[in-house]
Amino acid sequence: MSQIPPQLQPLPTDVTFSYYREPGDPGCLCSRCLLPIGEKAVPIVFFPQSSQWILRYHPGCLGMTTFDDQDWEEDYKDLL
Ligand SMILES: [Zn+2]
Repeated sequence: MSQIPPQLQPLPTDVTFSYYREPGDPGCLCSRCLLPIGEKAVPIVFFPQSSQWILRYHPGCLGMTTFDDQDWEEDYKDLL
């Protein structure tokens, strides 16, 4: 589990969801950009203890691109 830097805070404009969904599920959308989170993505998920909703993000949407880069490298190697 990766550490979440304190500057990575949800915004009031972010969309909340009622249920957790697995990455790759068509209903697994990013709270920030509302695009599907792919099967190979490692979403950053917030589960507020006292709330009935969750937030989930593409790492890139929170300014973290490392995971996406790794996924891309794996895909690239598969093609060789
Ligand atoms: Zn996103």
